[in-house]
Amino acid sequence: MITLEEAYRKIDQSVRALPARKVPLDEAVGCVVGSRVISPIDVPGFLSSSMDGVAIRFSDLRNNSPWRMLIQAIVPAGDYESRSLQAGHAARIMTGAPLPDGADTVIPFEEVEIDSTEVIIRKKPQAGEYVRDIGDDIRKKEELFEEGDLLEPIGIGILASIGLEEIEVIPRPKIAVISTGTEIVERGAALKRGQIYDSNRIMLGSLLKRDNLGAPLLDRLCRDDLSALCETISECLNGCDLIITTGGVSVGDYDFVPGAISELGGTLLFHKVSIKPGKPILVAKLKNSWFLGLSGNPVSVVAGYHLFGKRIISRLMAQEYRPRVLHAELGRDLTISGPRFSMVGARLRKVGDRVIADPAMRQSSGRLSSLKDIDGFIMIEGGDRIVSKGTSVYIELL
Ligand code: AMP
Ligand code: MG
Repeated sequence: MITLEEAYRKIDQSVRALPARKVPLDEAVGCVVGSRVISPIDVPGFLSSSMDGVAIRFSDLRNNSPWRMLIQAIVPAGDYESRSLQAGHAARIMTGAPLPDGADTVIPFEEVEIDSTEVIIRKKPQAGEYVRDIGDDIRKKEELFEEGDLLEPIGIGILASIGLEEIEVIPRPKIAVISTGTEIVERGAALKRGQIYDSNRIMLGSLLKRDNLGAPLLDRLCRDDLSALCETISECLNGCDLIITTGGVSVGDYDFVPGAISELGGTLLFHKVSIKPGKPILVAKLKNSWFLGLSGNPVSVVAGYHLFGKRIISRLMAQEYRPRVLHAELGRDLTISGPRFSMVGARLRKVGDRVIADPAMRQSSGRLSSLKDIDGFIMIEGGDRIVSKGTSVYIELL
């Protein structure tokens, strides 16, 4: 059985980024750029006013103030004045509107006396004031992004401002989620003896949605049967970059996931990691897809997705996986048992400027309700002991 660190290393060494492809701009946030982006245009593409005011020719301000000028035109944003500004004239101009030819300075309305025909200027402005140059924001041919840059919402806004409809990125993986287990039934069905409802599949789907990965492309329920499992996995191999299963990954008589992986010609990266919960876990390369087999216990599903699911997905998206982490003070004594690296759900609270982590009560891998209100997991070395209240613990946020 390998350690968590070894499992991380194997994933980091083996999982390669998906090929870049063009996606609509509104799907690109959170992705990295696949090839550099050069601006095809100046933004703005014309001299424009940055205030509501009057556009004038600065050279008209000769002699002594006040200066009186006739209003030649009104220029709203989106429109333009086709004639050049005549000497001794001004244009009423709105923020974002193009300056008439010949105008070079804008004086805000607040600083002049104005009616519909005439403006009186008493104080001399700075030459060129409140005029945004061509390319003031972005210059034509400017490199805006290079390959590997992460697209945040502001980046998306920048790309929109140069008029891009699509962008080449490393896309989100297409993901299939399969719940396995003959005892598992859909919500809404009447439970027969020995049956339970499927909580894993919708919970994984919800985690993916919350992590901005969209809904799974496929989700399936499969009984504990080798050929049924092979068939379901094969179906998901078409078009999915990652298949996540829950259940059937351990050593029980009806645990067919390892068998299905070898039957389908998969290459095992690892099977079983020294962690608690979620020791029976399997990661494999299967044709062009990755396969993550999680134990069926719902608490192990949450932990396994957090540890390995997010990491594999980040790698597929050409990103280094960086969990959100913090240190907090343990809110009560915590008993650690067994040698495996442990994850204990914790809810955080603030007391003054201290952050306190209250470990989940009665956590066990089959008890999903024990994690109901957690913010993250206390990540702590194994080894029988009691970690006392007040100890600083390392936490990864969910
Ligand atoms: P397994 O990993 O198949 O040995 O399952 C471990 C435990 O998790 C068993 O008690 C299963 O009944 C339970 N379990 C498996 N799959 C699910 C599921 N989709 N939803 C809820 N519980 C499950
Ligand atoms: Mg099972």
